[in-house]
Amino acid sequence: MDDTSQRHRVVVVGSGFGGLFAVKALRRAPVDVTLISSTTYHLFQPLLYQVATGILSSGEVAPATRDILSSQRNLTVLAGTVKNIDLDRQVVRAHALGRTWFEQPYDSLIVAAGAGQSYFGNDHFAEFAPGMKSIDDALELRGRIFGAFEMAEVETDPEQLDEWLSFVVVGAGPTGVEMAGQIAELAHRALRGEFRRIDPHQAKVILLDAAPQVLPPFGEKLGVKAKQKLERLGVEVQLGAMVVGVDADGLDVRDADGSTRRIPSRTKVWAAGVSASPLGRQLAEQSGAEIDRAGRVHVDPDLTLPGHPEVFVVGDMMALDDLPGVAQVAMQGGKYAAKQIKARLKGKPSGEPFHYFDKGSMAVIARNQAVAKIGSVELWGIPAWLAWLFIHLIYLVGFKNRFTTLVSWFVTFVGRGRPQRAVTVQQVVGRQAIERVAQTDPAAVGKSGAPPSRSVA
Ligand SMILES: Cc1cc2nc3c(=O)[nH]c(=O)nc-3n(C[C@H](O)[C@H](O)[C@H](O)COP(=O)(O)OP(=O)(O)OC[C@H]3O[C@@H](n4cnc5c(N)ncnc54)[C@H](O)[C@@H]3O)c2cc1C
Repeated sequence: MDDTSQRHRVVVVGSGFGGLFAVKALRRAPVDVTLISSTTYHLFQPLLYQVATGILSSGEVAPATRDILSSQRNLTVLAGTVKNIDLDRQVVRAHALGRTWFEQPYDSLIVAAGAGQSYFGNDHFAEFAPGMKSIDDALELRGRIFGAFEMAEVETDPEQLDEWLSFVVVGAGPTGVEMAGQIAELAHRALRGEFRRIDPHQAKVILLDAAPQVLPPFGEKLGVKAKQKLERLGVEVQLGAMVVGVDADGLDVRDADGSTRRIPSRTKVWAAGVSASPLGRQLAEQSGAEIDRAGRVHVDPDLTLPGHPEVFVVGDMMALDDLPGVAQVAMQGGKYAAKQIKARLKGKPSGEPFHYFDKGSMAVIARNQAVAKIGSVELWGIPAWLAWLFIHLIYLVGFKNRFTTLVSWFVTFVGRGRPQRAVTVQQVVGRQAIERVAQTDPAAVGKSGAPPSRSVA
């Protein structure tokens, strides 16, 4: 046995904000770190909507984890979806790319598996209204959005033409606002002059939410400003409107007065709810920890699982003091967990609870238009937009990505181009095809808890 095998073993699950910042903070620690993630890249989710609307390429928002961390000598990166965490044996069990299983023992574990989309019990909506959580989602939406304009150009039936040119975004939080704003810019600015039979400017963009306000966490004043800016861009904002049905050619909506109505639309985007990784429920069942309605695990003030000081849960899957599911909570949580592990190894556990430092929130509406809340300071318009550009560039991982993103933004915001419009059939129909296979042969696509009956790669 060599010396390194004697070292403290830290396993980190997830290569998102929580996982990446935890791993980096362990760089110089005398530990062996194993990062296991179901994606081989670090996804910068806040810019996903720009992939969906043709501004950025997927590579710009999702650099390879192996590449980012290649110089970290105490780290091994493994591609795998963790299916089981055995708290008694201190082992995680993962499924690698739908082909094989492996186990990884740990002395300390940091679970940062994030959250997926929630359809509030209506998972069948997903087929017609993709969410915005992954590269797959963004590329599928890119295909659906640009495809809708193409279909409109060849459509002769006025009713169907109206369906193709109606875009509905469900959820008026930051993602929904950003998505609606970008689709409106696309229709009213970027595609100008490109079609002969239709005028893309005729496209209808509707932003729906059951809440009475746009961007509720930003407060009333910024919510009103954001709504006004959206309306000026041509977005129809419908508040107090609950979606009760979604199908291929439209949505059914119940308004605050109880009446229902139909919105014809072929292209729907779901940006309305989150549901924590199912690993949270597993951890809760084994440890007796509570979970909230979104499936997030209630952790102790030091981000550990009750009764399991060796297990940290960070980011979107943890519930503590009503902290929001935002990147800064995940980053700071990951760094904090790493610091605790290092302090314990030195025999000096800090005992300090996790303290979140709120650096503020921002949402972009369109070119030159954003809202930002930083402490008690509220910004909007160009100052908020410039602050947004600057902060997102700083947090994008890697110099090359920052540079190419800057060039793409220049093309889009100074000009009006959308450089990333390539769409493949696989991107548009792949998810549904996989779902169909999963219904008849779950093991074939790695969806069951059992090893796959055959490989799909
Ligand atoms: C469209 C969108 C826009 C957003 N905009 C903003 C914004 O503007 N500002 C902001 O602060 N926040 C924003 N957020 C929220 C922010 O991105 C999240 O809060 C943050 O990503 C949470 O980090 P995390 O590490 O907990 O999870 P994630 O970043 O989601 O990472 C989870 C990781 O776990 C991996 N994983 C999942 N399950 C498993 C498993 N079983 N086994 C192994 N690996 C697994 C995933 O592949 C991924 O690498 C946005 C989110 C979305 C979806």
